[in-house]
Amino acid sequence: MSIRNNRRDFLKIAAGVGLITTTGLHLRHTTQASAETNAVTVVVVGAGLAGLAAINRLNKQLPNARLILVDSNTTHRYQPGYTLLATGVWPSADKVLDDNASLVPKNVNWIQSQVQTFEPDQNQLMTEAGETIKYDFLVVATGLRLAYEQIQGLSVRDLGTKGIGSVYASPEIALATWQQMDQFRQRGGRAVMTLAHTDMKCAGAPLKMTFMLHDRLQQAKTLSNSQVDFFSPSQRIFSVPKVNENVLNRWKALENPIAVHFERKLTGIDVAKKTATFTDTQGNNHTENYDFIHVVPPMEAVESVKNSPLANAVGWLDVDQYTLQHIRYPNVFGLGDINGTPKGKTAATVKLSAPVVVQNLIDVMKGKLPSQKFNGYTSCPLLVEEGKAMLVEFDYENNLTPTVPFVDPLKESYFAWFLEEMMLKPAYMAVAKGRV
Ligand SMILES: Cc1cc2nc3c(=O)[nH]c(=O)nc-3n(C[C@H](O)[C@H](O)[C@H](O)COP(=O)(O)OP(=O)(O)OC[C@H]3O[C@@H](n4cnc5c(N)ncnc54)[C@H](O)[C@@H]3O)c2cc1C
Repeated sequence: MSIRNNRRDFLKIAAGVGLITTTGLHLRHTTQASAETNAVTVVVVGAGLAGLAAINRLNKQLPNARLILVDSNTTHRYQPGYTLLATGVWPSADKVLDDNASLVPKNVNWIQSQVQTFEPDQNQLMTEAGETIKYDFLVVATGLRLAYEQIQGLSVRDLGTKGIGSVYASPEIALATWQQMDQFRQRGGRAVMTLAHTDMKCAGAPLKMTFMLHDRLQQAKTLSNSQVDFFSPSQRIFSVPKVNENVLNRWKALENPIAVHFERKLTGIDVAKKTATFTDTQGNNHTENYDFIHVVPPMEAVESVKNSPLANAVGWLDVDQYTLQHIRYPNVFGLGDINGTPKGKTAATVKLSAPVVVQNLIDVMKGKLPSQKFNGYTSCPLLVEEGKAMLVEFDYENNLTPTVPFVDPLKESYFAWFLEEMMLKPAYMAVAKGRV
């Protein structure tokens, strides 16, 4: 079906439903905390989506509290938009850049430095500028770290050059990834697509890149002289079995199918020779030639959390997966990608879990147990070709949890594409401002 027909279908459907509620943006009305809970200091670390959602909500619900935000980052980057930059849908980075100053409430004390050490036994943290900040309650929202250095021979400077792309690193590198992909598709050749062996933010992004690369080759009429290979470090390509099976079947059914190689972890790249090294589960290395490679780096907790008493055994923030309260420090909560939860490193997760964190923090402040439970909601509009996507939503138990009654999560639609291209950014900004 053409994009135009898809668009017409979508408009008919959209007329019948409230678009905002279909994205799962249900307004949650919360009562303001009572006066006695207000004479406290709450520190939020990180001014990404999670930190902003937390600070804006706290500002509304605890109007008299002393609120402190710590992050040196003044530019806000809308990361879900990187996929659209890296696949040639959005031509410039303007749409993904915002000024954090416009998103931080005026009465919040924003300390523009990074946290160097967390000292939860003293209810304090130290900044890189040498300042000690004491708190009554702490929300950790530092996001995660991209560990490109774990891929031997690869430097971040190589990304977006010499046939190497990566959607994750930055808006600039996402755009340069599209330039590499565009050059590649003019001639065709061998594309090597990868997946990290660690937890990932938006684990659907490497699949979106693969679908879109295949589609771009088809559009350029170079698919017949191309080969797209996907390498996964495990025995699957997505954690939710139904989605995993669906995508694998789709790739098999494509004209010039995508070949999937399991138990192959990307461990090295020879940039000059255009070869990638994959290590199997027995520790044997396999070398693959490529004309274009998409690199998904290992992802891990930021150093300040990893090296602190707040970390779990592998470095992530040690929170209860339902209440998002720290396991050992009841006055500490976690929000966003830093959380050591089984799933959910997405903006959609932040949207549903920010109200849970803020309400539970207020409950504890009032001497109660946390009353709210998060179900692990994660969502990802999985682009399958230009103009079509699947709106995949699921929870901790791998249940599919569709919020739009007329959209089958395992079928592609223009509606889901439209959500990703047009609706996700406004919805995301509403989350950052604590409005939904
Ligand atoms: C390519 C891509 C595609 C994606 N697509 C989707 C999608 O389609 N749908 C979806 O829902 N999600 C998607 N996501 C995921 C989503 O963008 C993230 O889950 C979300 O942005 C995480 O927000 P965060 O605040 O936890 O982390 P971040 O946005 O990374 O922010 C973390 C902040 O913490 C700060 N910080 C770090 N360390 C410190 C420190 N020591 N002291 C002070 N501050 C610190 C950083 O400076 C940063 O500002 C995508 C992500 C990527 C990269």
